[in-house]
Amino acid sequence: MNISEYIRDINDFPKHGIVFKDITPLLGDYDASLECLEQLVKLVGDKKIDKVVGMESRGFFFGTLLAQRLNAGFVPIRKPGKLPASTYKEPYSLEYGMDVLEIHEDAIKKGERVLIHDDVLATGGTARAACNLVKKCGGEIVQCNFIMQIDFLDGAKKLKNYEIATLLNY
Ligand code: 5GP
Repeated sequence: MNISEYIRDINDFPKHGIVFKDITPLLGDYDASLECLEQLVKLVGDKKIDKVVGMESRGFFFGTLLAQRLNAGFVPIRKPGKLPASTYKEPYSLEYGMDVLEIHEDAIKKGERVLIHDDVLATGGTARAACNLVKKCGGEIVQCNFIMQIDFLDGAKKLKNYEIATLLNY
């Protein structure tokens, strides 16, 4: 099965001139989403993972499934004001502007082995902010794991110190 057949291009979303990769058809199909999960698990290989960190909001879908499959806990990284306990904060630049991400200060123990997961690596701003938050907690980043990478936006350059693993390149 080719999971790329379940990812569709939406022109001019969320802004004019942007072609948005929409994963809702993938999420909506049982066989395709299971196949995507199996392929993401394969990307991790035999690396031991203590925590999977997923970014709001599309990193939550496969992030939680991955955590279950890897016998790991799941940690959400969220937009400002959404997490109830004390947080570390990290500003970042997005393809469509600036924002801040947060993580609970006690979500990751010092030395825990962390898999970062999101649906898309675009400019890399989100993933780099997530890596910085994990480092603030004392976690060790084992891999940054994505369903797809938008090559021309060069996100990998912002993650030079980390292993990047992706299922699809556009
Ligand atoms: P970056 O920070 O790498 O520029 O953007 C990645 C973040 O924005 C991810 O959290 C991702 O969910 C979202 N994103 C950016 N472009 C797209 C896209 O074309 N499709 C989807 N599904 N998400 C995108």
